[in-house]
Amino acid sequence: MLSVSDAEAIILNLVRPLDQQRDIEIIDLFVADKRIISTPITSKLDFPHWDNSAMDGYAVRYQDVQHSSDAQPTILEIIEEIPAGYQPQCTVKAGQAARIFTGAVMPMGADTVVMQEKTRREENRVFILAAPQPQEFVRHQGAFYQAGQELLPRGVKLNPPEIAVLAAAQCAKLSVYRRPRVAIFSSGDELVTPDQPLQPGQIVDSNQYALAALVKEAGGEPLLLGIIQDNPDALRDAIAYAITHADIVLSSGGVSVGDYDYIDQILESLEAKIHIRSVAISPGKPLTVATFPTSHSPIYFGLPGNPASAMVTFWRFVQPAMKKLSGLATGWEPEFLQVRSHHELKSSGKRETYIWGSLHLIDGVYEFHKAGGSHSPGNLINLAQTNALAVLSVGTTLIAPQAEVKVLHLAFG
Ligand code: AMP
Ligand code: MG
Repeated sequence: MLSVSDAEAIILNLVRPLDQQRDIEIIDLFVADKRIISTPITSKLDFPHWDNSAMDGYAVRYQDVQHSSDAQPTILEIIEEIPAGYQPQCTVKAGQAARIFTGAVMPMGADTVVMQEKTRREENRVFILAAPQPQEFVRHQGAFYQAGQELLPRGVKLNPPEIAVLAAAQCAKLSVYRRPRVAIFSSGDELVTPDQPLQPGQIVDSNQYALAALVKEAGGEPLLLGIIQDNPDALRDAIAYAITHADIVLSSGGVSVGDYDYIDQILESLEAKIHIRSVAISPGKPLTVATFPTSHSPIYFGLPGNPASAMVTFWRFVQPAMKKLSGLATGWEPEFLQVRSHHELKSSGKRETYIWGSLHLIDGVYEFHKAGGSHSPGNLINLAQTNALAVLSVGTTLIAPQAEVKVLHLAFG
């Protein structure tokens, strides 16, 4: 059976990222948080924009004050006061200084700032009580960034630090990739919506809600197609609609080996190429991945119906695909942490096993706590309030308490 890492490689290889010209939108910087820039950004501005003072003090000529001391202060005439935001009017000449404040533009002639704590003021004269370093407390134009260089490359996700930089660079509007469109439907005759009364044998379609939330969390736009009965015609119509309206299609259920599991045969009747039929992962073994012979074929993920299996396979396979598709330049694969396990963890060792639980910071060290209750893939109740999956590789049957374990941190929000 296909290993998890081989399945991941096949999936990432199938993904064609959104087009940097066609699949974009121009948006306001105020709503750009978490979006991905589709054009490299440069600025016409130097940072700092002008030579300016890093201190409240006096702008001086270094050569005038280089021998100053408490015992032998240099006395300078104050010719101007320069608050932040003003354009200096005078040139500092020999024997002169300008009163200056943090962020204010350096006057012509001056090359150094003496902090006000190292001075004494007497009317329009200042006594320099200590020798500064040459050019001390001057932030030079272009020292942080020079106009025309690349400020941010294409494919960067905008978090608060990047938003701050773009605001400073006057990028009030910018070009980002549109959100990936992800069609979602659930298949199963037993499924009802949360607002319908349950008849014997029925269960609520929780996967539609879970997958919609996961897609939004991953920056996508869910397109909800509802519950489709285990009926080949209805399924064919739903799949045919989904593949013409989405970049990724997610169905849950109907991909196992039961008599009512029709998804694979319908995909084949639609001339899909099925790249994956099952993966050596627990939970989540029945996983179908397919593409269609159209030029902009979406990637079809037939996820298993069990709620825990659907979520684990989303995190492990769909999320990396969404990241690559969304235009993100790097960092598609999940990032694992090595942490300490609080509990004993067990696996059959036959498939890569994902055990849900939560990460806790204990004395500055992360510890994985396995969720209490049943770890049957059919149980979803104890998924609530978890934020991590411990990963036991093929061949590993036991992780002892306090031993190290690999963990996928599900960083929500
Ligand atoms: P299947 O893969 O269709 O054989 O479904 C496997 C198990 O998952 C069955 O117990 C289903 O009732 C359950 N299941 C399937 N789809 C959903 C869904 N959308 N929400 C919750 N449970 C589901
Ligand atoms: Mg079913």
